Amino acid sequence: MGPMVLPTYEYRCQSCNVKSSFFVRSMRQKLSPSCPECQSGDMERVISPVSFKMSSGTGAQSDYYRDSSSIGRNVERSYKKFGVDMPESVRKTIDDARRGKMPKGLDL
Ligand SMILES: [Zn+2]
Repeated sequence: MGPMVLPTYEYRCQSCNVKSSFFVRSMRQKLSPSCPECQSGDMERVISPVSFKMSSGTGAQSDYYRDSSSIGRNVERSYKKFGVDMPESVRKTIDDARRGKMPKGLDL
């Protein structure tokens, strides 16, 4: 298990398209997040194959997940940065996601 990594769920606001991360305290916790920008409760889960984040930058990424080819790009970058080979399972998940296939069983 990886106690160093806090699981985060990413959601994108359907109203203003701002993406936000929410920490999950319990694996079974049901999140009903609301947008920090506009308080809308209309949030859509964004699939993030790996939940660790290198920076907590906000904004500027609102268009990021519209382009499926950019899915996993910063994951790849993160692995590279640490000089770690990307596990096959992560690789496959990213490839699938880029093909529009939503990964299953990724609820960390
Ligand atoms: Zn919003």
